[in-house]
Amino acid sequence: VGHSSIATVNPYTNELVREFPAMDEAAIDQAVHAAHHAFAGWRATPVEERAARVAEAARLMRERSEELAHLVTLEMGKLIRHSRTEVDLAARILQYYGEQGPGLLADEPLEIEGGTAVIANAPLGVLLGVQPWNFPIYQVVRFAAPNLVLGNTILLKHASSTPQCGLAMEQLFTDAGVPHGVYTNVWAPGSRMGRIIENPVVQGVSLTGSNKAGASVGEIAGRKVRKSVLELGGSDPFIVLDADDLDRTVEAAVVGRLHNMGQSCVSPKRMIVVPEAYEAFVDAVAERFGGLQAGDPADESTTLAPLSSEQAAEQLMDQVRDALDKGATAVVGGQRVDRPGAFVQATVLTGITPEMRAYTEELFGPVAVIYRVADDAQAVALANASPFGLGSAVFGSDLERARAVADRLETGMVWINHPTSSEPNLPFGGVKDSGYGRELSHLGITEFANRRLVVTM
Ligand code: NAP
Repeated sequence: VGHSSIATVNPYTNELVREFPAMDEAAIDQAVHAAHHAFAGWRATPVEERAARVAEAARLMRERSEELAHLVTLEMGKLIRHSRTEVDLAARILQYYGEQGPGLLADEPLEIEGGTAVIANAPLGVLLGVQPWNFPIYQVVRFAAPNLVLGNTILLKHASSTPQCGLAMEQLFTDAGVPHGVYTNVWAPGSRMGRIIENPVVQGVSLTGSNKAGASVGEIAGRKVRKSVLELGGSDPFIVLDADDLDRTVEAAVVGRLHNMGQSCVSPKRMIVVPEAYEAFVDAVAERFGGLQAGDPADESTTLAPLSSEQAAEQLMDQVRDALDKGATAVVGGQRVDRPGAFVQATVLTGITPEMRAYTEELFGPVAVIYRVADDAQAVALANASPFGLGSAVFGSDLERARAVADRLETGMVWINHPTSSEPNLPFGGVKDSGYGRELSHLGITEFANRRLVVTM
């Protein structure tokens, strides 16, 4: 199955389950037109009513949570318990914006002489959302929930490998009473997105995905003078400053790195450890990684799931082989699992040097890279020696020291003594090659707002 075809391929078996036809250009234009047509009515709908539709979507998502979780596992191979966690978080996001959205959008009064001034948040119009396969439910609501409450209308382009999740999300919003044209799937490969962004009625585009896709979308949006939000890749540092409470630190590193089999933009991909903790940390992480059992991701007892596709598994193996060929050590793992399906062994790499791809590239799978550094200054320098700047984590019992390290990290998010995660009310996004703009929180809900000044004298 080529990258441009829209299909469910079960990565546990590598079998084609179901194919979907792509829209032709006329159908794409028709979808844009319908979204534009729907905007007038949606923006005139009271914000409380729009929020009520989103809250209803939360209720329906909880009702359908098992069905949705199994679709995620079928299409991209996620462990079923991780799929359930994803659906639960997505439902909490829908509920949060359904309840708090109108308050987050309230007018902001400003002081002027001889009259009144306010900043009022108005919607912009039709938006295109381009979403990845790694969290095919969560990523969609992170973009859609705040923007539906704000009053924008949405064209949603799902990853070509998770079309049934895409169908289920469109159905969910329809069943929640979102009017025709307000939330519509576009079935087309990424290369066709230019036609949508270039349509003059489209007012903005938000993409979560790779740097290549983000740069392409950002370039087209820039040419058309349209707002874009780009949530791109990451290679998050996870800094260990001491050996105190090492069990907790190892637990956080292992759970963080293995969540979604490492296919998360904010997974702690580079573990950076001071000498005091290094040996014990490497041993403990390697032991945990080595104990995983490959199997059917829909089976509760499985602990090592396949990657999202055969292509993803081979791409990761190319990066691992490159490091091993150039002298890195696989403390554990380093190979494909000897069975059908897109499996890669959970791997711990040490001895990574700047000539290796693993030093700068994102490793999108269950591969932990562990570095030894002499002190805090070296830890900061190595953490920042990455093109990415999404999330980061710092672990240490001396909070003042941990905060001093955290302050110097060039990332959009930094968590102290907890792996980077996502909550409905916390902003999410990065700097440098990880993109720009934020999703969620009061920052996310106003990215595609016309923050209109209204003065009355
Ligand atoms: P991807 O290949 O870039 O795909 C993401 C989405 O972009 C898909 O819908 C894809 O469509 C579309 N696309 C691809 N090329 C495009 C183009 N030239 N123009 C417009 N759209 C295009 O990325 P992925 O492999 O699915 O996702 C993994 C990446 O996403 C990782 O780098 C990860 O770190 C990043 N990510 C970032 C965040 C964040 O919040 N910062 C969150 C999750 C993931 P097709 O499927 O049809 O190709």
